[in-house]
Amino acid sequence: MNRQLIVEEKMKEWGASIVGFSDLIDVLPDDLKDLRYGITVAVKLSDRIINEINDKPTYTYFHHYRSVNTLIDQITLKTVLMMEEWGYNALAVPASQSIKELGEYRGLFQHKTAATKAGLGWIGKNGLLVTEKYGPRVRLGTVLTDFELDTGKPIETSKCGNCTLCVKSCPAMALHGKLWEAGIERKEIVDAQACSEYMNKNFKHIGRGSVCGICIKVCPYGIKN
Ligand code: SF4
Ligand code: SF4
Repeated sequence: MNRQLIVEEKMKEWGASIVGFSDLIDVLPDDLKDLRYGITVAVKLSDRIINEINDKPTYTYFHHYRSVNTLIDQITLKTVLMMEEWGYNALAVPASQSIKELGEYRGLFQHKTAATKAGLGWIGKNGLLVTEKYGPRVRLGTVLTDFELDTGKPIETSKCGNCTLCVKSCPAMALHGKLWEAGIERKEIVDAQACSEYMNKNFKHIGRGSVCGICIKVCPYGIKN
């Protein structure tokens, strides 16, 4: 079996809901350009837990959020070790990490950028990856590698259309209602500081005020009929 298929099968066996492949040469910082290919893993969030969110985050959601991040980190770590065994270089981008030196709320590399380049979805007016199958009810991880991959067709425009459900539901008024297209700055869509400050101020007792979930819950793409 070809090695890309093995990667996909293994990641799914380890818990991935969706796997995608991308060429990131145009968007990687210089110090990561030797690892030009991206492998995106999306793990679906539990519908029961997301559906329980109403006007504020829940304790269960916070625990779930962290559990799914841990699962993603395990999937990407196992993938890196497998690829290194095969003689390739690979790096797992942490599922959830803010590196202060890169600016507020920034990680090593943006999972959402890799996911759109892999053709897994678009960036919604909630600033999250929205997939056809699960809407924004996924969390993401990325492996960067020099293993040459057959890559997906990038998605460059939004399918949010006239919907503004997440924008209207955001208690922090942190969503600007802007329709995404590839290359647009995150700050044009979401005021990450307003989101974070609102959570911190009001829900410090629930998950240190770091996650809310309302803009995930309301998205029609994630709601099962
Ligand atoms: S997580 Fe909550 S506060 Fe932040 S943008 Fe979404 S709905 Fe608004
Ligand atoms: S709720 Fe509507 S506007 Fe917000 S991400 Fe989903 S489809 Fe897009």
